[in-house]
Amino acid sequence: MAKATIIDGKHFAARLRVSIAVQVARLKADHDLTPGLAVVLVGEDPASQIYVRNKGLQAREAGMNSFEHRLPADTSQTELLARIVELNRDSAVNGILVQLPLPKRIDPEAVIEAIAVEKDVDGFHPFNAGLLAVGGAGMVPCTPLGCLMMLKHYAGKLVGQRALVLGRSNIVGKPMAALLLREHCTVTIAHSRTRDLADECRRADILVAATGRAHMVKGDWIKPGATVIDVGINRIPTPDGKGRLVGDVDFDSAVAVAGAITPVPGGVGPMTIACLLLNTLNATCRQHGLPVPEVGPAAE
Ligand code: NDP
Repeated sequence: MAKATIIDGKHFAARLRVSIAVQVARLKADHDLTPGLAVVLVGEDPASQIYVRNKGLQAREAGMNSFEHRLPADTSQTELLARIVELNRDSAVNGILVQLPLPKRIDPEAVIEAIAVEKDVDGFHPFNAGLLAVGGAGMVPCTPLGCLMMLKHYAGKLVGQRALVLGRSNIVGKPMAALLLREHCTVTIAHSRTRDLADECRRADILVAATGRAHMVKGDWIKPGATVIDVGINRIPTPDGKGRLVGDVDFDSAVAVAGAITPVPGGVGPMTIACLLLNTLNATCRQHGLPVPEVGPAAE
């Protein structure tokens, strides 16, 4: 049976980071500018700590300045907002990211809206979401941006392709659909109330799954030859008690049908951080009135 091309997100992201590092070095040499990324973490959630550490590490590896703000779990919303105001004013900081989820007492929307639009490298601010919806040049959320880059590379010409986005969250599903529409795909958004989900999937040349439901999309839901991007990160139990990460797509059955597919882990995840660096680079250029450089994965 035919087997899909496995999209190596780790390798793709590494090549993208090389290309970003080249532009960062150029910015330093030509304009004496070093992009600065501030990451704010409230509390001690172990997964968030790993994400924050990786973001800082990769920012530094790309030649950027990284500022980590670790705040205690009992930080109040007022204190967090005050920290964001400081970062908004700090000219060494070009990008601000507040690691989600936040403790229950803090309203994430109030926090996201406090971030200066031009420093919102997560692309979650309603102003940037609006710009994406109307086709303007704002900051695009990192995960869908990474998915789009891989699709441009692996799915052939996107114009006119039928794309199904499974999930309608503000951070993945909706911006993903807007990006695919911008590329002239015929876009359908499916969600928990969608009827005949399997049939909707079977019509799609491009399927982006972002539901957070382990192994929900089966191989026989996939159109033969389709490009499948699996955003989901789900931990399932294993006999040794450690658990393992799987996507929203049942990889073993899907790989026999799809034309190309991302694995979990090693697919979308690494691209998300690389796109955060890309947004930080672009934000720095825009804040200094410089053109946004053309950046794509460096040649092999
Ligand atoms: P949300 O929980 O915010 O959204 C999930 C979406 O999936 C909702 O729109 C929901 O529909 C839909 N959905 C849930 N169950 C079903 C179902 N049975 N059938 C059809 N649709 C369903 O999740 P996120 O968008 O934040 O994240 C999605 C997944 O992607 C998660 O596993 C998350 O961990 C992962 N993720 C991975 C990233 C990466 O870097 N790789 C980054 C961000 C997220 P409805 O709106 O009707 O409730």
